[in-house]
Amino acid sequence: NPLQGAQFVLAAHRVNQLPADEGAEVAFAGRSNAGKSSALNALTGHKGLARTSKTPGRTQQMVAFSLPPTRRGETSQAIETRLIDLPGYGYAKVPEAMREHWRHEIDAYLHVRRSLRGLVLIVDIRHPMKEFDRMMLDFCVATLLPCHVLLTKADKLSRNQAAQALAVLRKQFHASMPVSMQVFSSADGTGVDEARAAVARLLEG
Ligand code: GDP
Repeated sequence: NPLQGAQFVLAAHRVNQLPADEGAEVAFAGRSNAGKSSALNALTGHKGLARTSKTPGRTQQMVAFSLPPTRRGETSQAIETRLIDLPGYGYAKVPEAMREHWRHEIDAYLHVRRSLRGLVLIVDIRHPMKEFDRMMLDFCVATLLPCHVLLTKADKLSRNQAAQALAVLRKQFHASMPVSMQVFSSADGTGVDEARAAVARLLEG
């Protein structure tokens, strides 16, 4: 597993509190309750890494996790790699002021973060592409930031239904160059290996 050995580094309320903007990182975003924490835990193989089933609306933070340094390039220098868990606010119970704060901070993060190599967008396969998801995708398309979408909770659908949902969304986002998609489930492990490889590729990009 290329994402093994992830460790909590810090939680931040603002972009400028994140670890130094060096090396490479991949950010995870998703509406509250989409299954982002479960996905992070499944991908890193670390059950307690991100807190799952949090109460929607509670104070949220950006959380940085470090991965073991990878050696790359001719000089074989160690490169710091990180995963960043962005707060999800696409939930009605989150107060408007908090949503506004995070809309601003996520926007700032996506614009200023030079070590950012890509975004993993976690979407409930049964409720795809709500306003929050579209906003994140629009940003990726506009800035050519690669985005990999995990259509999670696929275990809630039959294999056929899941494949159908993926096909429809792929068609819909066919023209969006930096966007890739796959079926995923933290519950039964569907697509975990594929997603690990996708994140590793983003980190190398
Ligand atoms: P987050 O708010 O996006 O971090 O979502 P969580 O990871 O905390 O998950 C929200 C709820 O969805 C929890 O009750 C999880 O157990 C459930 N959940 C997350 N991923 C899956 C999945 O792949 N399949 C199923 N059936 N439930 C899931």
